[in-house]
Amino acid sequence: MVDLIPIAAEPVIEAAPLRIGMLGGTFDPVHIGHLRGALEVAEMMTLDELRLIPNARPPHRDTPRVSALDRLAMVECAVAGVPTLKVDPRELHRDTPSYTIDTLELMRAELAADDQLFLLLGWDAFCGLPTWHRWEELLQHCHILVLQRPDADSEPPDALRNLLAARSVSDPLALKGSSGQIAFVWQTPLAVSATQIRQLLASGKSVRYLVPDAVLAYIDAHGLYRASN
Ligand code: ATP
Repeated sequence: MVDLIPIAAEPVIEAAPLRIGMLGGTFDPVHIGHLRGALEVAEMMTLDELRLIPNARPPHRDTPRVSALDRLAMVECAVAGVPTLKVDPRELHRDTPSYTIDTLELMRAELAADDQLFLLLGWDAFCGLPTWHRWEELLQHCHILVLQRPDADSEPPDALRNLLAARSVSDPLALKGSSGQIAFVWQTPLAVSATQIRQLLASGKSVRYLVPDAVLAYIDAHGLYRASN
């Protein structure tokens, strides 16, 4: 008679929910304010990845100064070799205005229900939220992380004050579940804007150290933002 040796059941290993950040922008051009903020937030929040998402046709602002392809190429140069920062070009493939709610719905459809999405917004962008298409639905799909912006002194409209009262938590690491809350994050304050960079270049000045060297090389190689463009 052979003794039957019980076979231990395979332990079921449940994958931890993914933590994905997204930072949309015109990135005209991408600069250290975007990049340093993104990296610091990714590390502080222990994100699996943070996606930079260039807008094709931003609904709230002037047409970007340079082409979508150039803006995308600069973001790609900027994050090359940084494992947590990724570029997501999906908005450049759509022939419609770049509505964040559409992007969120598409990203949600690709994720598990308990994966966490964090939408990063600089303070100026956050204050403009009530002008965004279907803005009140954004928190159904993501948490919002607000970055300080030392070069912006916007005041939040009443609608946002109410939202903050209802949805904000003081500790960004305490954001629970896949979506629905708002937190302010501290990152090194960098008073740098793409507007300032375009102005410097148009007046023939250097933007070295305000953008990564690879982005500077791309701008120079393609003669972008110079007054004659
Ligand atoms: P522009 O000067 O052309 O308006 P920008 O520098 O504000 O451009 P965007 O591409 O419009 O750059 O910004 C994308 C996102 O990054 C927005 O949420 C914006 O608030 C945020 N952001 C941009 N610059 C900074 C910065 N220096 N610090 C923190 N957040 C920033």
